[in-house]
Amino acid sequence: MTKTAIITGASSGIGQATAKELAAKGYHVVLAARRQDRLVELKKEIEDAGGSAQYKVTDVTSADEMKSLAEAALEKNGSIDVLVNNAGLMPLSFMNKLKIDEWDQMVDVNIKGVLYGIAAVLPIMEKQKFGHILNVSSVAGHQVFKGSAVYSGTKYAVRAISEGLRQEIDPANEIRVTIVSPGAVETELTNTITDEDVLNSFKEGGKMTMLQAQDIANAISYAVEQPSYVDVNEILIRPRQQP
Ligand code: NDP
Repeated sequence: MTKTAIITGASSGIGQATAKELAAKGYHVVLAARRQDRLVELKKEIEDAGGSAQYKVTDVTSADEMKSLAEAALEKNGSIDVLVNNAGLMPLSFMNKLKIDEWDQMVDVNIKGVLYGIAAVLPIMEKQKFGHILNVSSVAGHQVFKGSAVYSGTKYAVRAISEGLRQEIDPANEIRVTIVSPGAVETELTNTITDEDVLNSFKEGGKMTMLQAQDIANAISYAVEQPSYVDVNEILIRPRQQP
C-alpha cells in the first residue's frame, strides 16, 4: 500500500521541497498550509511528475484544523506513515522592541502547531502501531544569538517536546521521532522580520553559501527511508561556512 506523508508548511521553502521529494519517493503526500493557491499549484506539479497528492488548507495554530487534516489523510489512504511538522515563522527581534504580537505568533505556530500536529496523529499511529513524526527545529534550537531569544525559545521547545515524545513511545510500536535542525536555508523565512536593527545586522553578517530547501528535503527523506528499527533522532545540518 502507498505510504502517506503529511507535510505542514508545504506552500513554500523546506515544506514544498520535502513534499516533492517524498512524492518522488512514492509517498502519497498531504499538503497543508494557509495559502491555497500555492497548494493547488504544488499538487498539480507533483501529479504532473507522476506523483500522488492532496491538499487541505490548514492553520496549524488550530487543534481542530490539524485533527481534520489528519482525518482527511487517513480517509483518503487508510494510514498515516509520516508527519513532518515543518510550518514555522521567524520574525526575529531584539527583546526591548517588545514585539509581543510576534512573540505570540512564534509560540502559536512554532510550538503549539507542533503539539497540535502530534495530538492529531499520535492516537492514529498508536492504533496502527507504526508511524514517523519529524519536527523541524533549527540550529537556533541549539544556540541563541542576539535577536533570536524568542525564536530560539520556540525551537529549543521543539527539541524538548520531540525528545520527550520519543522516550514515551511504547517500544512495541514502530513509531519514530526525528528532530530536523537546519542552519541557514535560502527560503522566504526571513520575510516576516520587521525589526530594522536585526535586518541590518544580517546585512553586516557577511556572505556565505546558504543551504537550499532541497538539502533539508534530502535529510528528511534519509530519515524516513531507514529501516523501521532505526530511529534517526536528530539531523543537524549547517552550510559549511556557518559558524
Ligand atoms: P518558509 O517561510 O518558506 O515556509 C514557512 C511555511 O510555514 C510556509 O509554507 C507557511 O505557509 C507555513 N506556515 C506559517 N504559518 C502557518 C500557519 N499558521 N499554519 C500553517 N502553515 C503555516 O520558511 P522555511 O521553509 O525556511 O521554514 C520551514 C521550517 O524550517 C520552519 O519551521 C523554520 O523555522 C525552519 N527553519 C528554517 C531555516 C531557514 O534558514 N530557512 C533554518 C532553521 C529552521 P502559509 O503562509 O501558506 O501558511
